[in-house]
Amino acid sequence: MSKSTPKICSESFLQGAFDVLAIDEQMQHLIRSPHREISFEIPITLGDGSLRVFSGYRIQHDHSRGPFKGGLRYHPDVNREHFEGLAQLMTWKTALVDIPFGGAKGGINCDPRQLSDRELELLTKKLTQRLECVIGPDVDILAPDVGTNPKTMAWIYDAYSLVHGLEPAVVTAKPIQLGGSQGRTAATGRGVALVTSWAADMEGIELEGATVAIQGFGNVGRFAAKFLSDYGATIVAVSDSKGGLYNEDGLNTASLFEAAEKTDRRTSLYDLKVDGQKLDNEALLSLDVDILIPAAMENAITDENAKDVNARMIVEAANVPITCKATNILADSGIPVIPDILANAGGVIVSYLEWVQNRQRYRWDEERVNHELEATLRRAWDAVLERKQKESNTYREAAYLIAVERVKEAIEMRGF
Ligand code: GLU
Repeated sequence: MSKSTPKICSESFLQGAFDVLAIDEQMQHLIRSPHREISFEIPITLGDGSLRVFSGYRIQHDHSRGPFKGGLRYHPDVNREHFEGLAQLMTWKTALVDIPFGGAKGGINCDPRQLSDRELELLTKKLTQRLECVIGPDVDILAPDVGTNPKTMAWIYDAYSLVHGLEPAVVTAKPIQLGGSQGRTAATGRGVALVTSWAADMEGIELEGATVAIQGFGNVGRFAAKFLSDYGATIVAVSDSKGGLYNEDGLNTASLFEAAEKTDRRTSLYDLKVDGQKLDNEALLSLDVDILIPAAMENAITDENAKDVNARMIVEAANVPITCKATNILADSGIPVIPDILANAGGVIVSYLEWVQNRQRYRWDEERVNHELEATLRRAWDAVLERKQKESNTYREAAYLIAVERVKEAIEMRGF
């Protein structure tokens, strides 16, 4: 994250929950502070023989409810402060959906698109060497995030197992052949679509025929588009970092999905030449649609563009896609927002189910995984709705109250 990038907003949501729950200052400090932060340099020799030194991080925020859990991000603009916010977000996410994990996040400040597979493998295995003594199936379990994927997890599994013996449960979202779970690749997008359907119902939006714009067509956006189309929604716009596509009658998401799966990560959506007119990434956010789904990076909706949002509802498929100021602007405009810690929790829920299968040395079929995913997410949705209605607050406030309360109780029960 460059120095000018605004800090991600979860801190102010957290403070709101502290105030309502009347949590005293010492406890606030304990809940807020990361348990442990690790940062290190990773030198590697690139394919052309030159030396490059990258910075690696792992921030372990809280493990009062279970081992640390969270993704590994490879992106040129990451730093420690940024990971602190994202690690904390994982704590609230796992608590809200009530899986027995805490929260962590980490990664490397590299641009994976500029590195070969060989270089990425080397980088990942060196990162694992640095982290092997502070991760593990009962300590800290890693998963993909922006810029990483099942292949990255396979390399970590390999490097970790060299020291500790074969232990698939140290990472989740592995390739199926190495103990990955059925349904994990689609899980985050599936969860986004499920939560969107429940929220649409609540907000009086008929999902059948509802217009949807999705910013981001990576693993999350692409599956969200697929499942929402299956539910009968009309996906009018999708975009990636290089631009988007628009079709007021609805894009052919199935062909786009297929084309995007086949191409490498350097090809833009528009270059796929499958469907739709070219659309500017910013313009997508202000489209007159029923549902807007930011599914790319943090801080996509800011105080500069929030007032142009024309959607009836926003579903946060990305982590923290809305800045603090923009959150207030959207609240003033009366646009309901379904928060990230609920909307995109499908990924970490199936990560948990993968971990359970690995520990049991047993495999479930996809139907069972999807059933457990939906049931877990539904319980969280019902809890949020109940709290929201009881205390007349927003979806996000209700979600934070539940999550923070659970973490606080776990800390207190364990004692000091
Ligand atoms: N990176 C994903 C997230 O932000 C998945 C984390 C996981 O499965 O551990 O929720």
